[in-house]
Amino acid sequence: MRSKLCELCDTNRPALVRPKTGQRICKDCFYYVFETEIHNVITENKLFHRGEKVGIGASGGKDSTVLAYVMKLLNERYNYGIELHLISVDEGIRGYRDDSLATVKRNQQQYELPMTVVSYADLYDGWTMDNVVARIGMKNNCTYCGVFRRQALDRAALSLDIHHLVTGHNADDIAETVLMNLLRGDVARLPRSTEITTQSETSPTKRSKPFKYTYEKEIVLYAHYKRLDYFSTECTYSPEAFRGTARAMIKQLESIRPSSILDIIYSGEAMQLSHSVQDKLPQQTQCERCGFISSNRICKACMLLEGLNTGILGLGLGSDRKTRKLQSQTPECAKG
Ligand code: SF4
Ligand code: ZN
Repeated sequence: MRSKLCELCDTNRPALVRPKTGQRICKDCFYYVFETEIHNVITENKLFHRGEKVGIGASGGKDSTVLAYVMKLLNERYNYGIELHLISVDEGIRGYRDDSLATVKRNQQQYELPMTVVSYADLYDGWTMDNVVARIGMKNNCTYCGVFRRQALDRAALSLDIHHLVTGHNADDIAETVLMNLLRGDVARLPRSTEITTQSETSPTKRSKPFKYTYEKEIVLYAHYKRLDYFSTECTYSPEAFRGTARAMIKQLESIRPSSILDIIYSGEAMQLSHSVQDKLPQQTQCERCGFISSNRICKACMLLEGLNTGILGLGLGSDRKTRKLQSQTPECAKG
């Protein structure tokens, strides 16, 4: 007969069915496995070194709120010796980002971590996302936003002498990106989309995903049981239909076979690029305009900004490989 007790400790009454494994476990055991698996990912991949300053991309959503909470907890529990700093980007989206930033500010006090906010308006000639959408409409808005956010985070990190950022991208997001790259035939991006740490040709800062193998459902459960303070409203200018469809497919697969999420990630990891594909990947150089690292003479952010300022809206929005790459990344906003 099936035990009425937690399948892990065999002592407490179970409080939940673990989405990743289907085990009926108690809250304490859930916290333990959830946190320990993330710690194991961090140590097995040697993500940090003692004394390192690490920025946490914090939006106030569930993923980055849990990330900030767990990073602080593990840093103290296992004495990583790293210095954590919350970095938030204000995209200028009324009714969405202003409220979620208020959540990050509360988290900052709850977790006693330093915090820096940078805004699109300050960095990009006064362009907020509200203004961008008023100019270009609801098509490609996430491309502008993604390019701007990436550079905004880099700029904030550099100004704080931080060269390593962690983001709340979880296993579902990574599986989604693998699937989107496959569906678009963008095989060159496949291996990169599953790397736990990347230092892209457009960024001076490396980025890591400690939640690479963490299921979104478990992040939600963890935030719920720990009563973490997070913001759950979706952006007013939510992501395009193609991403939404890929996301729905992942959820459907997960409901039939929970291991699908990890299996998609493992498949992405196992795919190797042939030399002929690798040779076509762009080389790194410096943007002639803003000085940031770019794979073209003028970086994507400067191209898009020029398009906005001059009214030539197609600028920087071609169907080139780089645009596709940007479109295939899960926006960090959607990650919380
Ligand atoms: Fe920006 Fe995300 Fe909103 Fe798109 S959904 S406009 S990337 S905040
Ligand atoms: Zn238990």
